[in-house]
Amino acid sequence: MAAIGQMLIGGQWCNADDSRTLGVINPATEEVIQEVAYAGRAETRRAIEVAQKAMPDWMKKTSWERARILKKTADLMRERCEAIARILTLEQGKPLAEARAEILHSADTYEWFAEEGKRAYGQIIPPAVPGKRHLTLKHPVGVVASISPWNFPVTLQARKIAPALAAGCTVVARPASQTPLSLIEVFKCLVDAGLPPGVANLVIGSADEMAAEFLENKAVRKISFTGSTEVGKQLMRGCADQVKRISLELGGHAPLIVFPDADPEAVANLAVIGKFRNNGQVCICPSRFYVHRDVHKEFTEAAVERARKLKLGNGLDDGVEIGPMFEEKALAKTLGLIDDAKSRGAKVLAGGQRSSKFDRGYFFEPTVVTDLPSDCRILTEEPFAPIMPLLDFNNIDDVIAQANNTPYGLAAYVFTNDLTTAWKMSEGLEAGILCINDPIPATPQCPFGGMKESGLGRELAHEGLEAYLETKFVSIKLKE
Ligand code: NAP
Repeated sequence: MAAIGQMLIGGQWCNADDSRTLGVINPATEEVIQEVAYAGRAETRRAIEVAQKAMPDWMKKTSWERARILKKTADLMRERCEAIARILTLEQGKPLAEARAEILHSADTYEWFAEEGKRAYGQIIPPAVPGKRHLTLKHPVGVVASISPWNFPVTLQARKIAPALAAGCTVVARPASQTPLSLIEVFKCLVDAGLPPGVANLVIGSADEMAAEFLENKAVRKISFTGSTEVGKQLMRGCADQVKRISLELGGHAPLIVFPDADPEAVANLAVIGKFRNNGQVCICPSRFYVHRDVHKEFTEAAVERARKLKLGNGLDDGVEIGPMFEEKALAKTLGLIDDAKSRGAKVLAGGQRSSKFDRGYFFEPTVVTDLPSDCRILTEEPFAPIMPLLDFNNIDDVIAQANNTPYGLAAYVFTNDLTTAWKMSEGLEAGILCINDPIPATPQCPFGGMKESGLGRELAHEGLEAYLETKFVSIKLKE
């Protein structure tokens, strides 16, 4: 077995103080791939201390100097894409093609923020009183703690680390304990790109202990969290005591709405791609499919046919389109959602069970269900599962009301060729990300984030840089 996966604190690769480790499991084989350091509060405190010490020099660098290191990191990630992608597939389960896309999207994120850091502009503001001059300066927030989940271990940290470093902040990053290996490889890129020791640190271990240290340690000025709405709310409460800055990227329950002027078969194919990517374990993936009654039949037939043809298997194998689910718990929850729907009269049109083709691994058949009552769990809880629930609608106002009838507001998908419909839907839907005829929207230069209980703030784009900057107002009274 490979050496222990280590943390990076103050430029030193290290184990937990008590040498404790955790085995990272391959969800396709249920075997341990590698042991990783599993640390707690003391190591986290040290990482925060070194990040605080590194802050003055890092923030004094020009944005152009910081950009050179971030750009070099992006180049190294691209050079090492194949190796990092394999590690990502091994620890997370997604097909290799999706893993490669994740590494390349993340490299683009580092490159984009390298450039955007150069545009952390203040303003000159015209005074109301003679003899005064007003301006604003941008100032890095301070030490940032970044916490991410297991579904996109590289991308979700890139959306935090890259803008934080570009803004002149230093970082302590904490990946999900089950998927730290690909992020360790990204940290090797940061080090090899010349990032000074202490500027970005990586800690792996107990979520509770690390979160307690992040919340209570005054040196941490901002928490950037991606994960469940439940944990996001806990962190938000915890931040109140020190009025710590917080950004939240939380759960979603995205509607996908198909209007009768769209081609139902073509949309069904795109919808299947959007739905089953990463096994439906994507915060923005569509999870409620509202199809207009006039095209419901054609859409359903095409979606069922396409879903049945998806090739399930080990993500490292050629041609595999769907890997295993991430863990046993996720698979059990998915089965629970199906049982609940069936017990309330829903019909399973494709899949609906753990795949019997595999002796090991958390494989679940891509599933299409219909005839769902509005109170079934698939429609009221974030499913995070490879299930496509089909619903129907008749008029635009009704479908907007149904789509908005959720505490979430992350993404929404609309398929139509009618400009007026597209415009009305963009205005009417409560979602931070509106996708018109586009099944996969995220890109570094556009803002990403949710309304309502799906989050607070935006990642990516200029907003994603602003999230790591304070605005200082400078008022100058000139001599008479
Ligand atoms: P989760 O349980 O909230 O975990 C997310 C991260 O928080 C993990 O690193 C986890 O560590 C850590 N964590 C767990 N308990 C914590 C606590 N009390 N304090 C601080 N950190 C804690 O979420 P998940 O179920 O793993 O991930 C899926 C969720 O993430 C879904 O709701 C999904 O929609 C959301 N998500 C949102 C976005 C977005 O951009 N909006 C993107 C991706 C995912 P351990 O794993 O080590 O326990």
